[in-house]
Amino acid sequence: KENLLKKIISHAKEYGFVFPSSEIYDGLSAVYDYGQNGVGLKNNIKAYWWKSMVQLHENIVGIDAAIFMHPTTWKASGHVDAFNDPLIDNKDSKKRYRADVLIEDHIAKIENKIKKEVTKAAKRFGDDFDEAQFRSTNPRVLQNQEKIDTINQRFKASIENEDFGDLKALIEELEIADPVSGSKNWTDVRQFNLMFSTELGSLAEGANKIYLRPETAQGIFVNFLNVQKTGRMKIPFGIAQIGKAFRNEIIARQFIFRMREFEQMEMQFFVKPGEELQWYESWKKKRLEWHKALGFDESNYRFHDHLNLAHYANAACDIEFNFPMGFKELEGIHSRTDFDLKAHEEYSGKKLQFFDPQENQSYVPYVIETSIGLDRMFLAVLSSAYTEETLADGSERTVLKLPPILAPVKVAILPLVNKDGLPEKSREILDLLKYDYNCQYDFKDAIGRRYRRQDAIGTPLCVTVDAQTLVDDTVTLRHRDSMEQERVAIGALNDRINELVAF
Ligand code: ATP
Repeated sequence: KENLLKKIISHAKEYGFVFPSSEIYDGLSAVYDYGQNGVGLKNNIKAYWWKSMVQLHENIVGIDAAIFMHPTTWKASGHVDAFNDPLIDNKDSKKRYRADVLIEDHIAKIENKIKKEVTKAAKRFGDDFDEAQFRSTNPRVLQNQEKIDTINQRFKASIENEDFGDLKALIEELEIADPVSGSKNWTDVRQFNLMFSTELGSLAEGANKIYLRPETAQGIFVNFLNVQKTGRMKIPFGIAQIGKAFRNEIIARQFIFRMREFEQMEMQFFVKPGEELQWYESWKKKRLEWHKALGFDESNYRFHDHLNLAHYANAACDIEFNFPMGFKELEGIHSRTDFDLKAHEEYSGKKLQFFDPQENQSYVPYVIETSIGLDRMFLAVLSSAYTEETLADGSERTVLKLPPILAPVKVAILPLVNKDGLPEKSREILDLLKYDYNCQYDFKDAIGRRYRRQDAIGTPLCVTVDAQTLVDDTVTLRHRDSMEQERVAIGALNDRINELVAF
């Protein structure tokens, strides 16, 4: 599977989906640029989300708030005081790590030892192998499992109590070495805030420290009353937003899974206090359905319910996706209580309440939040769609089996040969279709190679124009996944394509 991630990264680069940022200067860690096909896929994911959240819900509206916000916003939200990671430096290599990740990696290594032991035994015993029984009786496995449990217990306690002295002690006791230099010479563990800061205004005017937003949610909270009043919204209602967020992530790895500049698609749903848990359950269900509607294998998704809740939540879960690196968070669904709105009331001195005409009283609503990383969704889509196939004739093809609504190019128009009036006819068809679909015109190389190129970027349909087209005004429509071809009259082409690629 690790191999799969490598393949996806190189495919994404080769076919213009994702490039390392400022690559000619050797890139910038955890920052990426989307290329000509990447931006198409990304925009289509956004449109799919926006359409199902905003367009299909009469009680959800969108906004686009600024990335810069008044600095007090982040005091109120808790980000200035609590949006931290525990960091540790190696004194010899001068490399910086997240202390919690060093310990997690150490645990993963012990887990790997167990896995190896299990695989070995499975081979030895063949069909008779009972893994559960083996795990509960083999002394080496038991010993390692006990090690993991002990480390985990202490690890969790020190994180919960913010006992960084003990976190360091644990790293030393486990003799965790710097993965780069092998040195075990560590500094103390300290807190590191993940927000990027900069200065607003020139120094002469008395500069003000401000932050790049680490989440889009706060732009929604501070606009709650503006939208409610001007949109005459009645509770329950939601506000949705797609936009950039910035976090100074310490471990920058796993491609676009964890970036320093990324995009979020968030929706805050405002409800009557006391009704939040039923809305939480309904949004959990709806969001999972949204993922499943794309048609990828359903076993790729699972819920992870949070047992340790953040200070602002009274229920929370993640939708995890089976990424090439294993199951990891793709989307968070949180019941955030009235924490944010109350905090903004307190810090701003302004009321952020809804007057309920039925109850004849005002209250601060409770909030259910659905928050998905656009880039993580992009990676989920790309890794589900990426397929290597051996065809009947023994040749191989790499095809992105993207849901047609997400494909960056919907139709490729291909003259069978680049002469005899076929290019002219093909361009006529292009002019017919380009207002409705993102099309690509390609005449270079043999038709088979052109099909492969379209397969590699996930184009669901190819229209091939041949000599017969000039005689009877029909073309060949070639389907990406089945590679089957059908003959369609040019006059019926738009309707047929629409049937196959529409939302
Ligand atoms: P993680 O635990 O993986 O750091 P998180 O719990 O901090 O994520 P949230 O604050 O709940 O994430 O953000 C909501 C969503 O934003 C996540 O589900 C994820 O899809 C996305 N996201 C968060 N951080 C990043 C990042 N550094 N790069 C890309 N996407 C991110």
